[in-house]
Amino acid sequence: FKHALHGWSMAEAASDATISSNAVHILFKDVDSGEVKGASNLEGPQTIENWCAAKPNKQAIEFKLALSKINSASDLPPLKNPDFMDHVDDLSLLSHLHEPAVFWGIKNRFLSKRIYTYSGMVLIAMNPFERVDIYTDEIMRKFGGKKRAEMTPHIYGIAEECYRAMLEGKNQSVVVSGESGAGKTQSTRYIMQYLAAVDSLTDSEPSNLRSETEEAVLASNPILESFGNAKTTRNDNSSRFGKFVQLFFSNPYSGKVHITGAKVQTYLLERSRLIYQPDTERNYHIFYQLCAAAPLAEKKMLGLTAWKNFAYLRQGNAGVIRNVNDVEEFRTTQEALSTAGVPVALQWEIFRICAALLHIGNIEIAPNRDAASCSEIDAALIKCTELLGINSSEFIQWITKKQNIIRGEKFVKNVKSEAAVAARDSVTKVIYTKLFDWLVKTINKNLMRESTDSQQFIGVLDIYGFEHFATNSFEQFCINYANEKLQQEFNAHVFRIEQEGYIQEGIQWTMIEFTDNKQCIELIEGKLGILALLDEESRLQNGTDANLVTKLNTHFATPSQKFYAKPRFGTTDFVVKHYAVSVQYASHNFIDKNKDSMSDELKQVLAKSTNPFLRELLADDQVSAIAAVPAGKVVGRASAKTPTLGSVFKASLQDLMATMRKTESHYIRCIKPNMAKEPFQFEGAMVLSQLQACGVLETIKISNAGYPNKLEYAIFATRYGLLVDALSRATFDNKALTMKIVTSILTDPSKYQFGKTKVFLKNGQIAFFENRRKDR
Ligand code: ATP
Ligand code: MG
Repeated sequence: FKHALHGWSMAEAASDATISSNAVHILFKDVDSGEVKGASNLEGPQTIENWCAAKPNKQAIEFKLALSKINSASDLPPLKNPDFMDHVDDLSLLSHLHEPAVFWGIKNRFLSKRIYTYSGMVLIAMNPFERVDIYTDEIMRKFGGKKRAEMTPHIYGIAEECYRAMLEGKNQSVVVSGESGAGKTQSTRYIMQYLAAVDSLTDSEPSNLRSETEEAVLASNPILESFGNAKTTRNDNSSRFGKFVQLFFSNPYSGKVHITGAKVQTYLLERSRLIYQPDTERNYHIFYQLCAAAPLAEKKMLGLTAWKNFAYLRQGNAGVIRNVNDVEEFRTTQEALSTAGVPVALQWEIFRICAALLHIGNIEIAPNRDAASCSEIDAALIKCTELLGINSSEFIQWITKKQNIIRGEKFVKNVKSEAAVAARDSVTKVIYTKLFDWLVKTINKNLMRESTDSQQFIGVLDIYGFEHFATNSFEQFCINYANEKLQQEFNAHVFRIEQEGYIQEGIQWTMIEFTDNKQCIELIEGKLGILALLDEESRLQNGTDANLVTKLNTHFATPSQKFYAKPRFGTTDFVVKHYAVSVQYASHNFIDKNKDSMSDELKQVLAKSTNPFLRELLADDQVSAIAAVPAGKVVGRASAKTPTLGSVFKASLQDLMATMRKTESHYIRCIKPNMAKEPFQFEGAMVLSQLQACGVLETIKISNAGYPNKLEYAIFATRYGLLVDALSRATFDNKALTMKIVTSILTDPSKYQFGKTKVFLKNGQIAFFENRRKDR
């Protein structure tokens, strides 16, 4: 064993290894090649923790891979849980609560096609990548009026729990998280479908489950998906924005409680996709739907042809998605728009704008050396300006030229072709973003249907999970920042609930330390944090990405800052040590993406448009549909009015957190079990890293620090009564009997406490009682 170790320094940090405190298989890997060089079982009382402590040279262990190799419960000696816990619905009930056991529990259930598992308050949802027949109206009815624990783990169980709690007068929220393709949007849809039907589920007469309002609420999903989802390598229907949907209910104290309306808030739609898609990826679905399905007359009017003819659509070379029919999808989009209250004529105004943007992408800009140029008779230029109702020579002038004001005097300058292309594309990004925001606003207006004084709501958050790619940019930075905030709320929530449980039962408990990411959040959003410095650099005439990194290094590459680092190589990147993993960000384009605005001259050209719908889109000055930017936060060089994306995002997150803090929260962690999207395939290493990133393993640590097993006296006394003599058993008082059993068997008083209604046991004690019971 020692021999096997010799000479290999290990891939994982020692601190990581200590999290997994109990028996595991360990594989030793060569750091560089990743090749497995040896294996061993760590057994008996020797834990990874004390094993690591005994290693003077801090050799750490690659244990993740080892965990992924666990194929059966018997691979978990010696801290194996009792057999009857093999298919336990709620992992927090396990006696030995450690990573391998949690991992095995999820895998075991998944392989027998049970995709949902509770882990305390969290619902773990494995993506089956196959239609599973568990979302029918009939199954919904079974959940109506039931308590979560009475039913098998299911997303409907969470939705029902929210509804019941909301009826008691407390607003609820459900946070759905997970990586791309894990199933967040699908889960959100199931929750919304359940809540739209919930008022009728317990009716004795089966009738129409949903009212007109409820149908309109559901229609918001396909609309947002057509305009905000796209095919990516990870997911054929990937949401490129975050969303928080609040479903409002009628007064819980009067009559049948039903949905009266809804409000959708969106976060940070991905803009770069509009002009560029990586190989095998697509632009937003709506463009392909239009090219495929617009009727002939409209196609002609809008100048639409096959997707391959548009530069904005063909870069990923993947215009068709397997098993998706864009013609049918277009019909669904149109129907959903009608259900949401957008009349057909207005729908064509929307599509007209979309078509115009496609033509913008086809405007040819000649790559002359210093001065970009474009022909006045360029067909795409003529078509897009016609559709947008703007002057084509003015438009092309301000794409190929730029106006500088120096000491009050205006100078017009030619620009290089890259700058002209960027100016052209900025128009597309701005108009589409405005269109998306307009859609959200219009949906919201139409969803506030019934006037009611009740503000009771259930909110569902479908937000991008933690992202860590080979190259990480501004988008990943924002997404990971959002995840840090959510993780902080989650930890605080888990901690609070755990603590409340102890206080309610009147038992002693000392606080433990858990990974607190407050400082990392401060690093990002603090007064002098990364976002503030980014805004400062964006405001300068000559601000650059390189200067930004220099500035960040000066401020944060200090011994006292634990959450920031300079990368080993290169000077244009910076590293943030996130709770899940350290991420290296490439600063390239941070400033441009943060400003994301078009020139004032182009704004003026658009403002004079004869297309009233375009004018309406642009008149709405809000950058994000609902996110208001606090006064004084407005920055931006090109025009002092345009707030930076970073500041808008920060403000909208703060707003979200404030709303969520007023609710009781529920958590759904979606897990993507394999890369290939294969039905019911389980790839261990992948699952494990997601469990870590979404905090499931961290909550186990918090539970373990206290008393993870809490059993009601009646349950404990019934199951383990036979461990004491018949005379003691004769008592009718379950608490007294439990105390008798526990104190006569456990010699170490630190392993238990007696609360008002439950006995609290430390990790592993149930297994101990269980073994005794078996021996009888
Ligand atoms: P992204 O972050 O990219 O938006 P996501 O987490 O929202 O990803 P979804 O779009 O919800 O992922 O799911 C991806 C795909 O996985 C779905 O299109 C569907 O094929 C499948 N899927 C997800 N959940 C389920 C489920 N409960 N049953 C069957 N298939 C599912
Ligand atoms: Mg999604």
